[in-house]
Amino acid sequence: MASSKQSQDSHAARAARAAELRRQLDQASYEYYVLDRPTLADNAYDALFRELQELEAAHAELRTPDSPTQRVGAPPQSQLPKHSHLVPMLSLGNAFTDDEVAAWNERIERLTGDAVHRTGYTAELKIDGAAVSLTYRDGVFVTGATRGNGSIGEDVTPNLRTIRDIPLRLRSHGPTPPPVIEVRGEVYMPFDRFEKMNQARAASGDPVFANPRNAAAGALRQLDPAITARRPLRFFGYAVAIGDAALDHGASTRKHAPAKRTRLPFDTQWDLLETLAGWGIPVAPHRARCHTLAEVASWAHEVEHRIRPTLNFAIDGGVIKVDSLALQEELGVVGGREPRWAIARKFAPDIAVTRLLAIGVNVGRTGALNPYAILEPVEIGGTTVKLATLHNFDLVAEKDLRAGDWVQVKRAGEVIPQIIAPLPDRREKGHEPPVTVAPTRCPVCGTPVERDEEEVAIYCPNVACAGRRLEAMVHFVSRGAMDIRGLSYARIEQMVAADLIEDVADIFSLTAAQLEELDRFAEKSAANLVAAIAESRSRPLSRLLFGLGIRHVGSTAAQLLARHFGSLDALADAPEEEIVAVRGIGAIIARAVVAFFAGRSAKALISKLRRAKVNFTEPRSGSASGALKGLTVVITGTLPSLSRERATELIEQAGGRVTSSVSKATSFLVAGTEAGSKLEKARSLGTDIIDEAELLRRTVPNP
Ligand code: NAD
Repeated sequence: MASSKQSQDSHAARAARAAELRRQLDQASYEYYVLDRPTLADNAYDALFRELQELEAAHAELRTPDSPTQRVGAPPQSQLPKHSHLVPMLSLGNAFTDDEVAAWNERIERLTGDAVHRTGYTAELKIDGAAVSLTYRDGVFVTGATRGNGSIGEDVTPNLRTIRDIPLRLRSHGPTPPPVIEVRGEVYMPFDRFEKMNQARAASGDPVFANPRNAAAGALRQLDPAITARRPLRFFGYAVAIGDAALDHGASTRKHAPAKRTRLPFDTQWDLLETLAGWGIPVAPHRARCHTLAEVASWAHEVEHRIRPTLNFAIDGGVIKVDSLALQEELGVVGGREPRWAIARKFAPDIAVTRLLAIGVNVGRTGALNPYAILEPVEIGGTTVKLATLHNFDLVAEKDLRAGDWVQVKRAGEVIPQIIAPLPDRREKGHEPPVTVAPTRCPVCGTPVERDEEEVAIYCPNVACAGRRLEAMVHFVSRGAMDIRGLSYARIEQMVAADLIEDVADIFSLTAAQLEELDRFAEKSAANLVAAIAESRSRPLSRLLFGLGIRHVGSTAAQLLARHFGSLDALADAPEEEIVAVRGIGAIIARAVVAFFAGRSAKALISKLRRAKVNFTEPRSGSASGALKGLTVVITGTLPSLSRERATELIEQAGGRVTSSVSKATSFLVAGTEAGSKLEKARSLGTDIIDEAELLRRTVPNP
């Protein structure tokens, strides 16, 4: 009696645990796949997933049809149109050790004998991005979709068209592609671009992304493809699917697909990748053909310890696939979720625990105060980490990071290390470190900080603050701004140290004699620099405005403002209502511009620039410096995703002019569906005709 009661209790406890695990995993998947904002680390998710898998394996009655172990991803929930995959896109089983890879191999051998020894394996990097399927019809890219729940994804064709390394037409190198083929792969964001984008977002007060994967997945699922186009996305392909059969992890759930072999022009995973590369699809580097499990293990070791730290994109392991496609087909799929013939060899997380010694503050060029973590040095993946980015004080508060805390730090590839979370349990009871408070004064010049309500960043408003001076000067002379060749970061530092310059206006009074006094300057280089500075005086107002580093005023906004107002004085005198009325300028920019010109230090700087005879005007016509400078464009028909207004705005922002009728003066026609007489006229005149994707490529600056 007692033992039956005990067994009932333990059954109830197990069922409760399984239900709790399902709840936690469902919530985490929703945050990860639908919101692109995970709150759980991947290894923590993997551990819970494993626990549930093991529980269900030991007690089959606990397995429910809706268990996360029986499903792929999460159902798509955005407003994007839905797309049904021809063949399901699946997930992968995991192996965390070489022994687990060996156990996977044993399962294969049990089913197919020693066939796998004869054909071997292909080992590939496991790209940590967002899975997509690209449909090519007669070699032309027609539809692209996210994985979604494996059966139904989101149609993100216009967004995928903006990714520059996805070919819109397959190259005719190698075998001819089948008439309809889905190329499957991963959209990802390179580390360096991700970091740059996050820094720019933090500087302009926008929320930062947790990691490149979430940034990529979020960018891919934007409703406005112009936003996607601005995000630095890339693609790697690793699988194909055709009508009734798929290869790779999107494997057919049918065991035999006899038609396939005659239609796919390769027999192995290795040749599949080579063929994709020949068709112009980017394929990830460092793939290997392994003949034995020992070779697989040594490849995985090499990738984890040597290759991974050198990559400019995130991987979370390797994928080991049975090389023969015929054998893949024979092996099929487990539980509708994972192919039997492939396994993800996951790596140890690139995470370490160390002590947060202090929170330092940097003053950026726009005056944004950026906190960063000073860490007790710790080794992660072969590199010693001493500093980590914190981006802004809201994030510090959200994570409740306190100087003195033990923290989890993550570092992958080139990404500046990030703090995932503090370990509050390791705070000493009664001696908890004090809560971090954001500074109320600039730590460099003492000026009270400012903060706009909608923004996360806090700012030092003092244009002359020594903290922001150096960064501001470097930005002022940079290529997109005043473009003063020969004035490098190191030289500006040198001039500041020698008390030759205090603000950007001082640059214009530098003399060759002063420069020759400095180390590493000869007569010729000093004269060249003085000439480059003199030449830069005549740059158009748009460059000057961008160079001034007014909060939120990037190069596009600077061009719009310069073109509209024509002179710096007209802009400085303009009330907020007039600025916000400029097409493409929003309230946040308008407010920042007014605040900038109202400041005492900005007024003094502008007088100095005026005395230095710097040009304050924008040439009226043909002045735009955008990619469509001086071009006349006509739009016709319905574009797949952009409204007419948005397309016009993009063309104008890039310096082009939109007119309503096609003539010899038309530079090109943007044609959508149901285009009529304008399209015919353009054809008869031999005018260049492009589609929306090409327009986005031409107008949105390459990130
Ligand atoms: P997965 O990421 O473990 O593996 C399958 C995926 O790998 C495929 O769908 C494919 O997109 C990708 N892949 C990358 N390179 C590949 C290659 N060369 N060949 C084949 N496939 C390749 O599985 P999943 O189902 O996409 O997601 C589960 C994982 O996602 C978990 O292990 C966890 O790390 C993460 N996750 C995290 C959270 C969280 O809250 N942190 C929540 C849900 C999922």
